[in-house]
Amino acid sequence: MTGDEADDRRALMEDPETRFRMAFDDAPIGMVVASLRPGSTGELVLVNQALARLLRTTPEELVGSSILALSPPDDLPIDLVFVRELVDHLRSTYQRERRMRRADGSDVWVRISVTSVIADRAPSYAIAHVEDITDRRAVEEELARRALYDALTGLPNRVLLVDELTLAVRRTAAGDGPIAVLYLDLDHFKDVNDTLGHAAGDEVLRQVAQRLGEVVGGDQGTFASRLAGDEFVVFARVADETAAQAIAARLHAALTVPMRIGDRTVVSRPSIGIAIARSAADAAEALLRRADAAMYHAKHRTRAPWAVHDETLDALAARRIAVEEDLRTALAADGFRLLYQPIVDLADGRIVAAEALLRLEHPTRGLLAPDAFIDVAEDSDLILPIGAWVMDEATRQLARWQAQRPQLRMAVNVSARQVRHLVLLDLVREASERNGIDPGDLHLEITERVLLDANVDVLAELRAVAELGCDLALDDFGTGYSSLAYLTRFPVTALKIDRTFVAGLGTSGESTAVVEAILGLAEALGLGTVAEGVETAAQRELLVELGCPFAQGYYFGRPMTAADLERLLG
Ligand code: C2E
Ligand code: CA
Ligand code: CA
Repeated sequence: MTGDEADDRRALMEDPETRFRMAFDDAPIGMVVASLRPGSTGELVLVNQALARLLRTTPEELVGSSILALSPPDDLPIDLVFVRELVDHLRSTYQRERRMRRADGSDVWVRISVTSVIADRAPSYAIAHVEDITDRRAVEEELARRALYDALTGLPNRVLLVDELTLAVRRTAAGDGPIAVLYLDLDHFKDVNDTLGHAAGDEVLRQVAQRLGEVVGGDQGTFASRLAGDEFVVFARVADETAAQAIAARLHAALTVPMRIGDRTVVSRPSIGIAIARSAADAAEALLRRADAAMYHAKHRTRAPWAVHDETLDALAARRIAVEEDLRTALAADGFRLLYQPIVDLADGRIVAAEALLRLEHPTRGLLAPDAFIDVAEDSDLILPIGAWVMDEATRQLARWQAQRPQLRMAVNVSARQVRHLVLLDLVREASERNGIDPGDLHLEITERVLLDANVDVLAELRAVAELGCDLALDDFGTGYSSLAYLTRFPVTALKIDRTFVAGLGTSGESTAVVEAILGLAEALGLGTVAEGVETAAQRELLVELGCPFAQGYYFGRPMTAADLERLLG
């Protein structure tokens, strides 16, 4: 201790106003008295036990050293400013949060409240309370971390992604290479959640995150994050588009390796959309939107594992949004219509059934056919309420017609998504009951896609529907995956021969052969057949010759209103 400090100490202890010595030593909170003599750097005069404990040392060790000796090197400049301001009398009190270096070299976060004591119009010493706020800081840091990281996978979240992507794109302008943004969405992830439970779904997401990290984690300039749900985004600095596609290929390969989830094996195949930022003008959000549109295109249009964004995709995305809007409006404002196309018995030309075909009455564009909107309805879950409306309307119409013609039946198209959501059974049962028809008078037309994606629940659903007596017809037969295994495994009762084959009847040897083969197959399996798209008398003749029992097409009648079909029925 120098002479000055000893003077300070004595002055303090002899001060009749100061009776804090005892309280000081035993205070539960850290306390320190430091010199503020001119030119001082805050030499410690008194240190209590609590502060010494916090700093993992003894008061004796601390007394005499500068308060700045307690600053971690990084914090020294700022801590020095505060000491100077007290010494120079620029302020007399302050509170701040700072770090202090302990005797063992570790740092502790404290909240320090300092008051200078003025004697002879100059500050002579400062008294400080030092409070340990490590716990509170830890909570705050955890909250800050959570605001930037996804709790489930530990990956950066959207907020951090957008920040980092913004910085990375800026460096593109500074001459670094282009940035490729890869947007990943797992196919059928919802099914995993639905059939194996949310815990299994979470596990899949964790494993996906880990694999993303393994593919891009170590590389300089790469970044993997989880956006939401089953959507992940990776970005990387690349030389060109080919390099971006190579990353997509690596990601795709890594994710499609089967995962062990409990005692099940799950394959999580991703669809990947790629957008490339070439200039600093590309905003992070816009890049993400473009990569998302490319992902959507890959998933729903090309079914390729990945797609690279180009301008036409923007137009497609805009269409999707506009059509979804139209569909919602139509649902809310009774904008859907059904047209009916006759299905005839080829033996005598009688109408035995009608196929209900959906139309959208658009406020400005007139009556729209399904190819203008059904893909969007199916990709969003809008097909569910729309399909429910179709079933209700078609069964109501059938009930009206059956009052005069009890033999008449109705064919209703069912989308893969309705089946996958297992809503078909209830839908058929409820609509039939509500409108007073026998479900046995319904043909449900499904596509091969339904069977291709089927799991045990779908199979059970289809069997239950078949048990109600519904016919199950495979629509567009011959165009898809057409595996004979489906026909025996599923309760299919009829095939609809696709109109592309019917169109070639008589003119294309191959088409004629396909139609013949389908008819032979159907007969062998005891299935009914309907030839679609019959447009000419010649086609009708050939079908009769080949022994096709039923047909449908412009030749017999176009899709028409219920009133028109009623007139045709006579
Ligand atoms: P689809 O089930 O194969 O329906 C037959 C389509 O062929 C109808 O087109 C019909 O108008 C058309 N068509 C009928 N006869 C002929 C013909 O002689 N020549 C030609 N060139 N075409 C003919 P539409 O009404 O445009 O329906 C298209 C598709 O939309 C349907 O194909 C079906 O897959 C789907 N769809 C229609 N209504 C519904 C519905 O209520 N729900 C669902 N999920 N899909 C529907
Ligand atoms: Ca159909
Ligand atoms: Ca068809």
